[in-house]
Amino acid sequence: MSDETEAIADIRTAVRALCGKFPGEYWRNLDRARAYPAEFVLALTEAGFLAALIPEEFGGSGLSLSAAAAILEEIHASGCNGAACHAQMYTMGTVLRHGSAAQKARYLPGIARGELRLQAFGVTEPTSGTDTLSLRTTALRAGDHYVVNGQKIWTSRAEHSDLMLLLARTTPREAVRRRTDGLSVFLVDMRETQGLTIRPIRTMMNHATTEVFFDDMRVPADNLIGEEGRGFSYILSGMNAERILIAAECIGDAKWFIARASAYAKERVLFGRPIGQNQGVQFPIARAYAQMRAAELMVGEAASLYEAGRDCGAEANMAKLLAADASWAAADMCVQTYGGFGFAEDFDIERKFRETRLYQVAPISTNLILSYLAEHVLDLPRSY
Ligand SMILES: Cc1cc2nc3c(=O)[nH]c(=O)nc-3n(C[C@H](O)[C@H](O)[C@H](O)COP(=O)(O)OP(=O)(O)OC[C@H]3O[C@@H](n4cnc5c(N)ncnc54)[C@H](O)[C@@H]3O)c2cc1C
Repeated sequence: MSDETEAIADIRTAVRALCGKFPGEYWRNLDRARAYPAEFVLALTEAGFLAALIPEEFGGSGLSLSAAAAILEEIHASGCNGAACHAQMYTMGTVLRHGSAAQKARYLPGIARGELRLQAFGVTEPTSGTDTLSLRTTALRAGDHYVVNGQKIWTSRAEHSDLMLLLARTTPREAVRRRTDGLSVFLVDMRETQGLTIRPIRTMMNHATTEVFFDDMRVPADNLIGEEGRGFSYILSGMNAERILIAAECIGDAKWFIARASAYAKERVLFGRPIGQNQGVQFPIARAYAQMRAAELMVGEAASLYEAGRDCGAEANMAKLLAADASWAAADMCVQTYGGFGFAEDFDIERKFRETRLYQVAPISTNLILSYLAEHVLDLPRSY
């Protein structure tokens, strides 16, 4: 085993041990109350897992993307849910890559220590959705501040975060040379901000997501990340990491469903034999396993390319697509294997089923990945 492989194996064991303290009952209670898993997030933070990608010079553990992916995968494979805190891993990358030395020194050590939470990522808006370049939230420079007006939707964890990475328009669309210009990224300190209203949105699963309104919200010009007008490219540059990490969560979900279904199919005896002895029950489990393994290989390939500093756009997108499909197929298979009990809260299957459905839509929907592959890999005409 290489040192890296051994280190990742140790991380997996440690994450599994931590997750063992947060069993199904913990998540079921939160799910019923639509409450945030504060204790779980605190435990991950204290163990240093959320600072995995922060370089050691800023107090993090400076681990590879593969290690971060292993952390999220294990969380999900243990029946827990990383969605409460996964954004910290990838939003922080924007600050790391494009922030100034002063911004990094100011924020990253606090994030690494767990004193500052960077969990909110404000990109999606109600009217623009996937069409990010049409977003309408504006940030206009006024002396040493920007004044922000507009609205975001699906800004997850905004109530449980100190900082928000915000994408807003700083130059009107009509006035930009390239259509991707004119958007800027800000690190908004929500603790000291006025003109910010956060309203929770109740969703089919427990996800702490919100809509956020900006009414003359003042953000210090010092909190602009990188150059004004280049924000879209900064956000794009973080998307490959985001897709790989979310894909790893899907692999974890798929493993959890497959493990649960296999165990149940061996235990449940009907007509004098375990249901798993019937090919009609075992084949869907075997198929889900094959689908998960294929997707897992693509996640590994994307992460290796990313770590080698090579272009991994196609692989990161395919990893997200295949892994989300694998987790959804495994979820469906698991409900079928459990029969009626798959619908009962106490078995956790229906909860995980609802949770994993999200990844067909967010953070990027399946159609948009297919469009990317069609246009950028297969050279087909752009469809939108
Ligand atoms: C629980 C949850 C949490 C989220 N968290 C965050 C967050 O923290 N921060 C954030 O910024 N966003 C977040 N999102 C938003 C998420 O990224 C978007 O929902 C997703 O990108 C899809 O955008 P939309 O919902 O506006 O759908 P739309 O863009 O309105 O699309 C609707 C449907 O049409 C399809 N479609 C659209 N255009 C095309 C096209 N050209 N070709 C083919 N099909 C097309 C899409 O695939 C989709 O199926 C979250 C969403 C959810 C549900």
